[in-house]
Amino acid sequence: MNDVDLAALKERPTASDHARVSQWLDRFEKALHAGDTQSASSLFQADSHWRDLVAFTWHITPVLGADKIASALVAAQKKINARGFSIDPNRTPPRRVKRLGIDVNEALFEFETDFGRGNGVLRLGMDNAAWVLLTTLEELKGFEEHIGVRRPTGDAYSRNFGGENWLDQRIKSQAYEGCDPTVLVVGGGQAGLGIAARLGQLDIDTLIIDRLPRIGDCWRLRYHSLALHNEIHANHLPYLPFPPTMPKYIPKDMLANWFEFYADAMSINFWTGTEFVRGDYDDDAKCWNATVRRPDGSERTMRPRHVVFANGVSGIPKVPDLPGLDDFKGEVIHSHSFTDGSAWKGKKALVLGTGNSGHDVAQDLHSHGTDTTIIQRGSGTVVSIDPSAKLNYAMYEEGPPLDDCDLVASAATYPLIVKGYQIAVKHMVNLDKEIIEGLKSVGFKYDVGHDGTGHQMKYRRRGGGYYLDAGCSGLIIDGDIGLLQFDTIDRFTADGALLKDGTTVPADLFVLATGYYAQQELVRRLLGDEIAEKIGEIWGIDEDGEMANMWKRTAQEGLWFIAGSLAQCRIYSKYLALQIKAMEEGFIGER
Ligand SMILES: Cc1cc2nc3c(=O)[nH]c(=O)nc-3n(C[C@H](O)[C@H](O)[C@H](O)COP(=O)(O)OP(=O)(O)OC[C@H]3O[C@@H](n4cnc5c(N)ncnc54)[C@H](O)[C@@H]3O)c2cc1C
Repeated sequence: MNDVDLAALKERPTASDHARVSQWLDRFEKALHAGDTQSASSLFQADSHWRDLVAFTWHITPVLGADKIASALVAAQKKINARGFSIDPNRTPPRRVKRLGIDVNEALFEFETDFGRGNGVLRLGMDNAAWVLLTTLEELKGFEEHIGVRRPTGDAYSRNFGGENWLDQRIKSQAYEGCDPTVLVVGGGQAGLGIAARLGQLDIDTLIIDRLPRIGDCWRLRYHSLALHNEIHANHLPYLPFPPTMPKYIPKDMLANWFEFYADAMSINFWTGTEFVRGDYDDDAKCWNATVRRPDGSERTMRPRHVVFANGVSGIPKVPDLPGLDDFKGEVIHSHSFTDGSAWKGKKALVLGTGNSGHDVAQDLHSHGTDTTIIQRGSGTVVSIDPSAKLNYAMYEEGPPLDDCDLVASAATYPLIVKGYQIAVKHMVNLDKEIIEGLKSVGFKYDVGHDGTGHQMKYRRRGGGYYLDAGCSGLIIDGDIGLLQFDTIDRFTADGALLKDGTTVPADLFVLATGYYAQQELVRRLLGDEIAEKIGEIWGIDEDGEMANMWKRTAQEGLWFIAGSLAQCRIYSKYLALQIKAMEEGFIGER
């Protein structure tokens, strides 16, 4: 999504593009079959990038540099026997494009291994050496999804005179009476729904539990004015795209209702009002003792082989230690509990935090007639939703089919992602010049990240630290919403914020838009210190540049994580589901 040059998308393929790519794929296959590291290496540029999504390595694996790539490919080839590399006739044809300012032929190709069928992306330099290679597993042989020509016949429940019909079977499968699911998914937002839908297609018995009372509540219960910050084209859930009648920026309640519909349409087993309270792993039986609390307060211990944590990177609100906060006589709430500002009309509010939530809460309060001041602690990135933020997803709007866009968007390794965002951010800063200068002029501390990668890398690295401007920046610039720097505050008092110059900024309400504990903390609380330490950081960037512990096997057998934007959940739920299926079928060992 980040290293894509828009103008280039419109380029038309030529016969020579096709031939160059085909020749490279032939030579590549020959080198793999011969197990010839040297000739494999000669097919890549010295500074080249290979990213494998489960096809060669059963893992999410980035490798950098021709020699390392060649060695890793040849080693993996001995185990998987990849073959049949050719341009995929069902996908966008090879095109001459510019990526990160570099001219390449970009081709989507197909191949197979002893285990499955795959797709990939090749970015071939003008020197006929590969700059970027992506390989992905699309399906496992013998375990293809039940879609299209393989759709279920329905014989098991249709016109079943005297027997169970479809609904009877759905009710039975949801009840889990006398049996447990193979996979227990904790959390039924987009991450949980995505992985459950994919696992269902692989015939893996899956149950989602969510502590909230109604499917979609994870969005429904967010603040009143919320609509998605990026456009609909990038946000489809797996298998079932949003209808073309839905708006560009989906309002939160519409998305919440869609989630409810989706779970039903995809026949997903879902227990609402059910909380995962604790779990431990039985090393001998290779399954979890997972205790869940039902809506009536009763507890049940299940024995799933896999637990997928889809419980959000914003599970436990972080409340900072603020001097004098206990003395404050007004109401203190975390942004997590904020719904709308209607109760605060004519009152005064302080909002601590200048991320998305802080800004949106402040704007909501202001729009309800609350005298609002936002407090900034560190510096922050501000990006206009349109035109800037949407640039990252522009490829999705331009026309290639969703699956092709997802493939292309998955090709970049960490260094390419960084470079892509650096280029994009320069463009964004230019587009947003007026608003950035305006913010700086009223004392807002603005930054684009330590390496100029802006909001997208902040999202990947720490899940926050930026604002996609839905109008609040203009209100701050115009002085309609006050701005206070945290380091000018001496302490909080009964009446509000006492500044170091002796004046007080009075408040009736204090909203802490101060973010959430990292997901490792959720693991610690639910699965204990030992597993939390064994797993380490969750989300953020790992040593190899991939997202830490996301969408792949972790140090704890049977424990998986899925989270992220709607696009990330759609893309990576596929590879996570395939890994679980491959493990269930014994194709891969435990680690
Ligand atoms: C204001 C805002 C705007 C955003 N806009 C966009 C956007 O435009 N596009 C985009 O792609 N992303 C957007 N995001 C980011 C991202 O999509 C969301 O944070 C998203 O909700 C993450 O989905 P999830 O399924 O991983 O987690 P969540 O939606 O947080 O769902 C986690 C679920 O787990 C449940 N749960 C947690 N613990 C337990 C437990 N112990 N037992 C049972 N259930 C549990 C929770 O009840 C919850 O339903 C936005 C986020 C915010 C806050």
